[in-house]
Amino acid sequence: MAISSRSRKILWARSGNKCAICQVNLIRLGGQKENVIIGEECHIISKSIKGPRGQHKIECANHDDYENLILLCSNDHVEIDHDFESYSIKRLKEVKRTHENWVKERLNSNPQEFNNPLSDIIILKKVEDANDIIEILKVCSGHILDYQKLKREKVPKEILILFDYIKDVVDVLSFMNYSQFEVMRLDLNNLIDEIENHGYLVFALQQKIDVELGANKSAWDVVNIQIIKSENVSIVGDYLFALYQTSKVIF
Ligand SMILES: [Zn+2]
Repeated sequence: MAISSRSRKILWARSGNKCAICQVNLIRLGGQKENVIIGEECHIISKSIKGPRGQHKIECANHDDYENLILLCSNDHVEIDHDFESYSIKRLKEVKRTHENWVKERLNSNPQEFNNPLSDIIILKKVEDANDIIEILKVCSGHILDYQKLKREKVPKEILILFDYIKDVVDVLSFMNYSQFEVMRLDLNNLIDEIENHGYLVFALQQKIDVELGANKSAWDVVNIQIIKSENVSIVGDYLFALYQTSKVIF
């Protein structure tokens, strides 16, 4: 059995895409860029009984579950499997727990640290109310809007209404008078509340994207809004770790 995409997402998000030992930035396999350190999803207890720590029994259902994995750079992977006596199960679990707690705390003070320019990973912050979206809209001239599509589940119409609203408002925000502005704020707040009542959360990020205009390339500020189920495993605290591919985001 291979590592499931669910276990992989939990591991990468909670590790902040960093090695749990040396905290170097890691990228996922499939990245196109050169000179990058590929993250390795390492087994705490080896699948093979003769492998590192392999004689111990796992506490989870199988060896490839998130509970038996730790995200490391290749150097530290070699180190923990070579010096398996120093790197006991207890110690590795402690290293992992400490690192994941550090990521959670660090996200609140310095989320930018986790936006890794070498990878296609972006970190979006949870939208608490309309003001969070309006502040970004004020400085943006475009938008990337997407939501988690689930089989056999109807998309709450408020998600689509919110997206239409943002598309309409992004161009006219600076021309609004006070009362128009306040009506917009109320509408946005109602939509955000309704979306949360349906079990979804709204995340936003102000992002620069390269736009080609003839021979010229320039960077535009865009608002990136992603709406996903609140139980999605790529959410860590108030932040969403998403894999970004040109104009599309994969959770
Ligand atoms: Zn490392």
